[in-house]
Parts: sequence; structure tokens; C-alpha cells
Amino acid sequence: MKATLDRIVATSRTYTQNGTLANYIPELAKANPNALAICICDHTGNCTQAGDFNTAFTIQSVSKIVTLLYAFEAYGEDVFSRIGVEQTADAFNSIIKLETRNHGKPLNPLINAGAIATIAYIAEHEGKGTFRKLSTFLRKMAQNESIHVNQDVYASEKRTGDINRALAYFQKGVSSFSAPVEIVLDTYFQMCSLEVHVKDLARIAQVLANNGVLIESGERLFSEKTAMMTKSIMTTCGMYDSSGHFAVTVGIPSKSGVGGGILSVVPGQYGIGTLGPALDEKGNSAAGIELLSQLSNELHLSIFR
Ligand code: GLN
Repeated sequence: MKATLDRIVATSRTYTQNGTLANYIPELAKANPNALAICICDHTGNCTQAGDFNTAFTIQSVSKIVTLLYAFEAYGEDVFSRIGVEQTADAFNSIIKLETRNHGKPLNPLINAGAIATIAYIAEHEGKGTFRKLSTFLRKMAQNESIHVNQDVYASEKRTGDINRALAYFQKGVSSFSAPVEIVLDTYFQMCSLEVHVKDLARIAQVLANNGVLIESGERLFSEKTAMMTKSIMTTCGMYDSSGHFAVTVGIPSKSGVGGGILSVVPGQYGIGTLGPALDEKGNSAAGIELLSQLSNELHLSIFR
């Protein structure tokens, strides 16, 4: 496995030049655009890494998976009274469908509007402790107590997050949620600013691959139903408005973030984390997608085989 990963990192490296760093959050523009890394954890818990796996990055929208898992596990299908499960075919931070479809009800939990709605839903039940609970759940899945908020990225997001503010205030304005907006946004910004490595993403993905059970301890963190529902939404919505193309070329339930990370789940087999901060026009890691495409083809990982 190590030799395979080293080789595909080498052959995918040039694809880092096919993208650009996210700069709408100024702090993210400081990343190394040529970084490329992968970690893959198998069903025995054994993890193999290649490339720049010591490079830290913020989890960004990959955290939407953790928020969704927490909400569904704690509150079940009632969550879907507030968010849908349909693709948008719009950019990840688009506001348009909030007004034109299901008035005020985001189409899915993996776009910004939907993640904000999910956090609002949790905050209505759990109040100010929401970030602590979500981040504790994330650390537990990653089995890494040292995961913390990158304060510079958090401050940068908070300073420049007016589109997210618009998404939240619109929903509040049409009475879609009653939680205090600034607490909801703060929780969202902090979740996005958690600093991770590819191994953390791979370990979180491995819990999903194992349908909710931590391999090492045998502890169940969420139900099989929660895992199944989350993997389904990752397949249809996890790569925003290129989810269809990604399903065709890679075929692995995944979730991307503008920090350059992608978390991928091969059910029953592998949890995978990749990093490539240079993004394509949809906001997904350009070289990360190439890495996953090569890996999927070589190891026959598409779930549609
Ligand atoms: N924090 C980012 C934002 O809200 C997350 C977006 C992403 O990773 N696609 O814009």
C-alpha cells in the first residue's frame, strides 16, 4: 500500500497547478498550494500515509459530516423537517434556493445553508454547549484529543463571513430557526476552523466505513442507520455541484472542504483523508480528486462496481 500511495502522490502532484487557493477567507491563502497528501486506514485500523502528511490544515466543510452525524444520531429523522437531502447544482455558499425552493429550508446538510441550519437545530436543543459537544464528538471519531481551533483562521472566517451571515439571517428571517444567530454562526465558524491532518480525516472516515463502531475499542459512536444515511448524502451532495462527475470518475462517498481536505469512505473497507489546498472552480481540491481517481481505478474502489 505504501508504494502505491507514494507513486500516485508523485503522479498527481502536477495537478496541484490546476487549482488556486481559497482566498475569500484571507487566512486560507497562506497555505502551500503544492502540498499533497493522503492517508488510508484499513478495516484493522492500520493507517498508511504518503506525501505531505505532516501538513496541518483546517477541516472546513468536511466538518459538515460530523455535524450531520451528531444531529441524526441525537434527534433522528426529525432533522429532515429542517433540511432536505437533494442536490442543489449551485455553489456551496449559494443563497438562491433558500428563497426559490422549500422556502427557508436548505436543500441538503452539506452546503453552507444546510450546515448552518443543522447547527441551529442542534443549538435549539443544546444551547451554548453545541460547539463543545460537536468538537468532542469529532475528536472522539478521529481519536485525537489534540485537535483544536486554528484561531487565525477562525478570526479570518468571522471577519469575512458575510455570505454565511446572509444565509443564517435569511433563515432566521423566514422563521426557519429560533437559535441566536450569532451563536449559530460562531459554532459554524469554529467547526470549520478545527485544524487537522489527513490521518484525522482518514480515521473519521474509517468510523463511517465501519458503520459507526471504533475499530480499536469496539465502541459504537453512532448507529448503522446514521452511517448509511450520511454515506448516501455524501455520495449525492458531498462534492457540491460536481458530485455527479465525482461519482462517475471516483465513485466513493466523499466530502470536501475549502482548506483542501477530502474525506472519503469505502464502505466496509477504507477510511481515506487527502489534502491538496489548490482548489478547482467548484471549491474542491484539484489534485485531491486526481489522487482519489487514480486510487479508485487502481484498487477498484468505486461503490458502483
Ligand atoms: N468555512 C467555509 C465557508 O463557510 C467552508 C466552505 C467549504 O469548505 N466549502 O465558506
